[in-house]
Amino acid sequence: MATIFSKIVKGEIPSYKIAEDEHYYAFLDINPLAKGHTLVIPKQETDYLFDLEDDLLAGMMVFSKKVARAIEKAVPCKRIGVAVLGLEVPHAHIHLVPINAESDISFSKPKLQLSKEEMQAIADKIRQSI
Ligand code: 5GP
Repeated sequence: MATIFSKIVKGEIPSYKIAEDEHYYAFLDINPLAKGHTLVIPKQETDYLFDLEDDLLAGMMVFSKKVARAIEKAVPCKRIGVAVLGLEVPHAHIHLVPINAESDISFSKPKLQLSKEEMQAIADKIRQSI
């Protein structure tokens, strides 16, 4: 069965898309830790990040760099924090989170409640920075 993230790539489930190429897709996390919290995934369905082939894994980090640079321009922050958990969705993904302090990337803190309009505005701003 297709993962929820594969359904997002295919457009069967809506997402706030940030970037896409042949191999990767980036979109806003629906329950963000911070404004601009983005997920980068390979289009290939693989559960565990470190099961990806070397080239696909390396390319995913280069793609993430491009997305992170755009988030930095769109969302004021000290830097983009990077995290990999994968405990909820069995489709490899990298979290890119704008941070100013270590606690900003704590996954046990309450998630932000943002309106659709706010999410769309953030996605538009990041996309324009790519
Ligand atoms: P993890 O698997 O890394 O523990 O967490 C999965 C992440 O995916 C969570 O931060 C969660 O908010 C996000 N997520 C889960 N389902 C969806 C969805 O349908 N759309 C989007 N945009 N994000 C999702």
